[in-house]
Amino acid sequence: DRTIGFLGLGAMGLPMARNLLEKGFELHIAAHRNREPVEELKQAGAIEHESPAEVAQSCGVLISILPADKEMAEVLLDEKVLDGLGRESVLIEMTSGSPDMMKRIASAYEERGIRVLDAPVSGGTAGAEKGTLTVMAGGQEKVLDTVRPVLESMAKNIFLVGPVGSGKAIKAINQMLAAIHMAAAGEALALARKLEVPVEILKEVIGKSSGASWMLMNKLDGLVKGNFTPGFKHHLMTKDVQIAVDESAELELPLAGLALKLYRDTESEAGELDFSAVAAKLLT
Ligand code: NDP
Repeated sequence: DRTIGFLGLGAMGLPMARNLLEKGFELHIAAHRNREPVEELKQAGAIEHESPAEVAQSCGVLISILPADKEMAEVLLDEKVLDGLGRESVLIEMTSGSPDMMKRIASAYEERGIRVLDAPVSGGTAGAEKGTLTVMAGGQEKVLDTVRPVLESMAKNIFLVGPVGSGKAIKAINQMLAAIHMAAAGEALALARKLEVPVEILKEVIGKSSGASWMLMNKLDGLVKGNFTPGFKHHLMTKDVQIAVDESAELELPLAGLALKLYRDTESEAGELDFSAVAAKLLT
């Protein structure tokens, strides 16, 4: 089915939707608060509707990439949205939400014969723009195969990791690591400054050594310049680490707990900034 409904036209959703239009899909959208992405996509050929329910009525594949569990429930468990989708349509749910919310949504849809793919992504806004995201899919292989051309318009790497909910689970693990690695890269930079190691040398040498990380290689320049334009918003990272901590329950993971505290403690000043702002204080 080449008719796509797309809910959540934010930092990720907008460039992903652009790629779908470029690949010739028919795109149905609705404004939430911000009209800018809707106007831009309409110029590029998208069709605007009054509400998510009308979007659902107009498409065979509904994609959502919303902030968190709360919005997933608000939008996707709205009876009008559920009623709008025909049997045999597919929901591709790409938010970094919790496995439990994903399972709740999937059972509401599957009860009505609507197929569901749990499909959070990694790769950031740059990956969304270039269409090179990584998809961590949870669901049935035949459902994934049905929507593979849709996903391939937005992503380079598509992994099926298990049943519905397991996409959200592996994404939470990725985010726990990313949050810890970001905080650690900030500390490395602070120590490098104290020890008078230039940042370029730090990246060049540690990039080829055992302390390397994606954050060290990609996020230090922004930190050095004090450029915290998101990107991936700090408050969304706090939400992701919270999911990992909630899921870990009695495991009590000390680094995840510490990362959660670091992100929470900096949330009031940095929540709307890039998540690398978690380390800003170390460098002032
Ligand atoms: P943004 O905050 O930039 O965008 C969120 C979008 O959801 C906005 O278009 C917003 O509309 C819309 N929205 C919010 N509430 C509702 C609602 N009740 N009904 C309909 N639409 C709603 O977030 P991102 O795009 O950065 O992130 C989206 C998800 O993807 C998050 O779960 C995030 O963790 C994950 N993610 C983000 C990455 C990144 O680098 N940014 C990378 C990988 C995953 P409006 O602005 O009009 O309110």
